Amino acid sequence: MGIEAAIPTDNFLTTQLRHVVNWGRRSSLWPMPFATACCGIELMATASSRYDIARFGMERMSFSPRQADLLIVAGRISVKMLPVLQRIYEQMTEPKWVISMGACASTGGVFDTYATVQGVDQFLPVDVYVPGCPPRPEMLLEGVMAIQRYIETEGMPPMNGGKRAPLGVVVEPTHAVNPQPVGLTQS
Ligand code: SF4
Repeated sequence: MGIEAAIPTDNFLTTQLRHVVNWGRRSSLWPMPFATACCGIELMATASSRYDIARFGMERMSFSPRQADLLIVAGRISVKMLPVLQRIYEQMTEPKWVISMGACASTGGVFDTYATVQGVDQFLPVDVYVPGCPPRPEMLLEGVMAIQRYIETEGMPPMNGGKRAPLGVVVEPTHAVNPQPVGLTQS
């Protein structure tokens, strides 16, 4: 029997190994939550039934950096805490990704003090910035999907001269801000 005759004529498909590997990578990001403040509550809500981060293959929040590849920094980082965050990042599995969630993680937020890190991107290669105080869960999911889209096409994180280069994607806010206070009647 020839090889052609042995190949079934239905129930199979062909693809490239690169596509399959990237599909597996983007469908199994394992987050390492580093939640220090109120943004952490929105991060928890992202795992709840309403937002259901499990739809993206990410329900397995890891509290062991060696079994995680997506660091989500949610909340303000003090200078004293920074070495711990850096060590966790270094212990994570390659290829790894970083999301900076909320104003505090990205810029220090309202905590313009010598004791608060004024943006974790000064110390870590941040791939996605999720703006807000706090950002809504939808926005965090948008940030995750930005990384997934990148993995799908490129696979591995960008490098620059042998050093990890951050993606530097900024998620657009998904809502318009209302002037405050609202619902008060003028006398
Ligand atoms: S950005 Fe706002 S909600 Fe998030 S940790 Fe800072 S103060 Fe809290």
